[in-house]
Amino acid sequence: MMTERARILIVDDTPENIEFIARTLADFYEVQFATSGTMALALASHDPPSLILLDVVMPGMDGYQVLEELRKLSQCRDIPVIFITGHDDMENETRGLEAGAVDFISKPANPAVVKARVKTHLTLQAQSDQLRSLVFIDSLTGLANRRRFDECLALEWWHCQRYGWPLTLLFIDIDHFKLYNDHYGHVAGDACLAKVAAAIGGQFGRSHDLVARYGGEEFVCLLPECDMVKVRDKAHQLCDAVAELKIPHQTSLTAPVVTISIGLATMIPGQDANDPEALTSLADQNLYLAKSQGRNRLCDGLSR
Ligand code: GH3
Ligand code: MG
Ligand code: MG
Repeated sequence: MMTERARILIVDDTPENIEFIARTLADFYEVQFATSGTMALALASHDPPSLILLDVVMPGMDGYQVLEELRKLSQCRDIPVIFITGHDDMENETRGLEAGAVDFISKPANPAVVKARVKTHLTLQAQSDQLRSLVFIDSLTGLANRRRFDECLALEWWHCQRYGWPLTLLFIDIDHFKLYNDHYGHVAGDACLAKVAAAIGGQFGRSHDLVARYGGEEFVCLLPECDMVKVRDKAHQLCDAVAELKIPHQTSLTAPVVTISIGLATMIPGQDANDPEALTSLADQNLYLAKSQGRNRLCDGLSR
């Protein structure tokens, strides 16, 4: 499940304690040390580890304070933290768990217990990461889903507004898809959706491009800071690529094969409009024009 070795950050003001724990973990994990809370925060925020073993009693910043600061950092918020403490009492355990620690190990730490608890919490973390990512994936096509798109649109809008970059959106809709389903059946319809989705994903695959299934037979591509000439070319190529799949569509009123229509909109957030709905609405209007002008085409008529 885990592709590379997990990295464990051990935090303790007594180097001998660190050495003791490190020895039990080094065969299985990459191990990293910090001898103070400040050092732990600096390391974790710079390159978040998979899990933190955190001493509670330390001079300066104690374990509770370190945990509180970690929870404020977006990149560290979800790191599982196990407290290692000499205070083997209920009150401290309760306080630690309330602060967000996932577990407790009391000193002197038993190597077998440390190993077992670390393994358990890494597994739980990997499972919850996987669930979190599934929430954003469309199961039929494997593309991002509408929820993910909504989140990315808000983020990219804000990001592009900040840097004065243009943001481009493509609304893509399969032509006469109801007729396709009516003629070939819903199962074939699903297979067709998956093929078209793969073609779209193949065309817009830069790491910061987002291709998502918007709903039904509609897809979106969100393209930050892109070159408009290139994007138009690629969108035209996408129309051709889908037609070139040569998925038979006998009842289509447009072509004997499955085709798509695309509405393209581009805006500089904050300059051309103040909220992302303006961009989606423009792309939607352009898609409507592409449909009314004959389908199997790209329209960006209403863009600047
Ligand atoms: P247009 O060219 O104007 O876009 O016509 P259309 O028939 O594609 O558009 P319409 O919105 O009338 O119909 C969309 C159809 O897409 C209706 C529905 O049966 C089909 N559809 C939506 N989601 C799915 C799905 O998950 N699987 C399958 N097989 N069909 C779907
Ligand atoms: Mg539609
Ligand atoms: Mg359609």
